[in-house]
Parts: sequence; C-alpha cells; structure tokens
Amino acid sequence: MCRRRKPKAELLRVHLVADDSGTRLQHDQTGKGQGRGAYVCDCVAMDEGRVKGLSPRLAAALGASGETIDTTQLVAWARQRTENLDGG
Ligand SMILES: [Zn+2]
Repeated sequence: MCRRRKPKAELLRVHLVADDSGTRLQHDQTGKGQGRGAYVCDCVAMDEGRVKGLSPRLAAALGASGETIDTTQLVAWARQRTENLDGG
C-alpha cells in the first residue's frame, strides 16, 4: 500500500470476517487469521484521507473485489498499534 518496503511486523494486518451483519474488516493481531489477509503500512492507516481511498484496493487484495469495505477503523487500529510499540 505504501512505496516503502517494511518488514511485516511493522505493518498492520487486516482480514475479512463474515458474520450475521455481513462482511467486515478486522484487525488480525496474531497474524494467523483465517482467509486472505492484507498488510497496510501505518503511515497510510493513520492518514484518514488516504484510508478512505484504500477501500477498493483492500477489497481486491482480500479477494472481495467490488465490495465496499469500511476502512474507518483502520485509523484507530494503527494508532493503538503504534502506541503499543512505543510503550514496549
Ligand atoms: Zn508507509
């Protein structure tokens, strides 16, 4: 998603989960989530303007082309993640 190459540990991993309310994006904190995952760089995930444009690309990366993916939570996840990293 970002032009800089980074180790996967520094990227936010997300995957799609399906439940009663439909398909939604979930933060895959363990990296062992089921199905296809996608990696998003923190620098993109923390920029609300860029996050909005990610939806179609994320959908394609996750094998759900044409679906609208709610990316608003990405920002919160990225912030949480970087706070945890700083604290550790
Ligand atoms: Zn980046």
